[in-house]
Amino acid sequence: MVKYNIVVLGGGGVGKSAITLSFTRNQFVEEYDPTIEDCYCKTCTIDNVECNLDITDTAGQEEYRGLFGDKFMRQGDGFICVYSITAKESLDELGPIRDQIHRAKEYGPCPIIILGNKSDLHQFRQVTYEEGHAFARQSNALFLETSAKDRINIDEAFQNLVMEIRRQAALS
Ligand code: GDP
Ligand code: MG
Repeated sequence: MVKYNIVVLGGGGVGKSAITLSFTRNQFVEEYDPTIEDCYCKTCTIDNVECNLDITDTAGQEEYRGLFGDKFMRQGDGFICVYSITAKESLDELGPIRDQIHRAKEYGPCPIIILGNKSDLHQFRQVTYEEGHAFARQSNALFLETSAKDRINIDEAFQNLVMEIRRQAALS
């Protein structure tokens, strides 16, 4: 069975672990240790084809800039870049992360989906849908707003990314 390495990146507290755990375990964890960096496996059927997803939930933004982070990026087949719709600066943080992914992939194919998470907290919204979408478009990435808490667009995020990985692989 085909295996895809998926790396979840983004600033602290945006919901990387919540998204990963919601997808892999169907549970919303209110307080998850922000320093835990771990790998989760899930077998799923996407577009009628079974595959294994190896998902790395990263923690600690500084590390992305070191060699350690580059390794994740080189090994990743697809990337989930998360910001929170309640924190404008968390979207700004994705610019350098996206650039680092592109460099690590030597500007070859690099399937990315941008997720505007915490969409349930609309009363605290600081980033509009259009702003998130525009950032994704200029990054050549897919885009969804998600809620790990309400489990909105979580399966879709992983499914769309895997379909994009396959699409880009078929092109190259
Ligand atoms: P990480 O540092 O990116 O891994 O962020 P976490 O997954 O640990 O989440 C940080 C905080 O945001 C926790 O208190 C989560 O419960 C909360 N959180 C994560 N996703 C959501 C969401 O979709 N909606 C709401 N309301 N809270 C969320
Ligand atoms: Mg975390």
